[in-house]
Amino acid sequence: MSLCPCCSHTLVRQASVRRVYWFCIHCHQEMPALETILKAELSLRRQPALVKK
Ligand SMILES: [Zn+2]
Repeated sequence: MSLCPCCSHTLVRQASVRRVYWFCIHCHQEMPALETILKAELSLRRQPALVKK
């Protein structure tokens, strides 16, 4: 379960054809899938270790 970053209301998971996103009933706004963003950031930060010669 996710909470809206704007109002801390519970987000409703919505699935469209190609993606899953969250919708805040309170804000009437589509919220980005935080889980997906976190995963993307983690993969970005996980850079290959420097190879020492
Ligand atoms: Zn909200």
